[in-house]
Amino acid sequence: MTIATANIKKATKKVPVRGMMDNVMEQFNSAADHINLHPNIRKILSITNNEILVNFPVKMDNGDVEIFTGYRVQHNNALGPYKGGLRYHPTVDIDAARALAMWMTWKTSLAGLPYGGGKGGIKIDPSKYSQSELERITRRFTFALADNIGPEHDIPAPDVNTSSQTMAWIADTYMSTRPPAERTANQHVVTGKPDGSGGLEGRDRATGYGVYLSIKFWAEKNETNLKGKTFIVQGFGNVGYWVSHFLERDGAILVGVQDAFGSVENQKGIKVEDLFNYTRINDGSIVDFPDTKAVDKNKFFTLDCDICIPAALGNQITKENASKIKAKLIAEGANGPTNVEGEKILLERGVSIIPDILCNSGGVVGSYFEWLQNRNGEIWQLDEVMAKLDKKMKESFNKVFDYSKNEGVDMRTAAFCIAIQRIEKAYIQRGIFP
Ligand code: NAD
Repeated sequence: MTIATANIKKATKKVPVRGMMDNVMEQFNSAADHINLHPNIRKILSITNNEILVNFPVKMDNGDVEIFTGYRVQHNNALGPYKGGLRYHPTVDIDAARALAMWMTWKTSLAGLPYGGGKGGIKIDPSKYSQSELERITRRFTFALADNIGPEHDIPAPDVNTSSQTMAWIADTYMSTRPPAERTANQHVVTGKPDGSGGLEGRDRATGYGVYLSIKFWAEKNETNLKGKTFIVQGFGNVGYWVSHFLERDGAILVGVQDAFGSVENQKGIKVEDLFNYTRINDGSIVDFPDTKAVDKNKFFTLDCDICIPAALGNQITKENASKIKAKLIAEGANGPTNVEGEKILLERGVSIIPDILCNSGGVVGSYFEWLQNRNGEIWQLDEVMAKLDKKMKESFNKVFDYSKNEGVDMRTAAFCIAIQRIEKAYIQRGIFP
């Protein structure tokens, strides 16, 4: 484990368990029990390696100074540099960052990548700030994180309310603060950059494409296909839009969408590109999209559909709504959208769940391709990227599906078991320093 230098609060064994952290720990412990994980390794993986909290000042457009709080949690790096997104949202806090960092460790391990897990962000409602304020906030956050991130140490990526533009600002700030000879060699400090700035062609759609592929593979295993199947999506951002785009291409029908502003339904179908174009002229919101009716926020997940795709925030499917969900398949585009109690109800009702660490792993696989591209000074073509992504997703899906059948466990437990065993092997081979 690395000892980072600045602004570090060492994790203690008393990680508060509530909310998302509660979930990820229950998921971890149940898989650890199943594989009889070595108790020493269970101890190590139950806590985060490093937790970085930074408070930093930024000058607003009106000249006032505001103080922001940012986080970066580095859960584990047994398999390689920490990897995971940065989120700008009012719900960002140390517990959310811990849980999301842990999920990243399992996700990168399951995908067979040479990465560990990290996550972070700023507690902020970005809609309240101008573009130039967001640029200064991002650059100052990057400066505050300093050497706690780096292309061979901890590599952030986009997440909720951060974009390729955010990554370009981070890369530029990080590179500008390196010694001159190292500047351009550091652009892979972040992935998810725009394609004119070292980004990977296709990284924008990688997560949504991976979610779509997971659904397609699941349908194939269940001897069906996507034509005419109805689906609902919570979140119509990067993940929600792209998964809808690819599902519609295969003949599936979008019948309900929820975003931060409201929910809409049309059982006859909502055209994905039309909705996307509408959000561009409607301040990013789906509300009042023509030929749809508004749906009560709390009834969204209970809409009639075959497939439900939560692609926004964590803890959305819970004991409050799980028994009323009509979908036969939940494909987790978001991280941690189904809590443990909600999952238990769904599994008892025979609803299948493709777990987040498998379902949305196309994003981090795409990020890995971008990192390799930058590291090797290459430029990859879109068709090459999509073909490699297809192959990686299929391998992961089959591994999880087969493990689940052979061991008689649900797909989440299967995914966790495979991920944890890979990390356990690294610890057993290397031992614990000193
Ligand atoms: P995004 O910012 O592009 O979009 C988020 C969407 O969620 C927006 O449509 C927003 O309006 C909606 N939303 C926000 N709060 C909501 C609420 N309370 N109720 C309903 N909708 C709400 O973010 P994204 O990149 O699409 O990420 C979505 C989820 O996917 C997150 O959980 C993220 O961790 C996960 N994820 C993203 C990636 C990636 O590559 N972007 C990779 C893996 C997992």
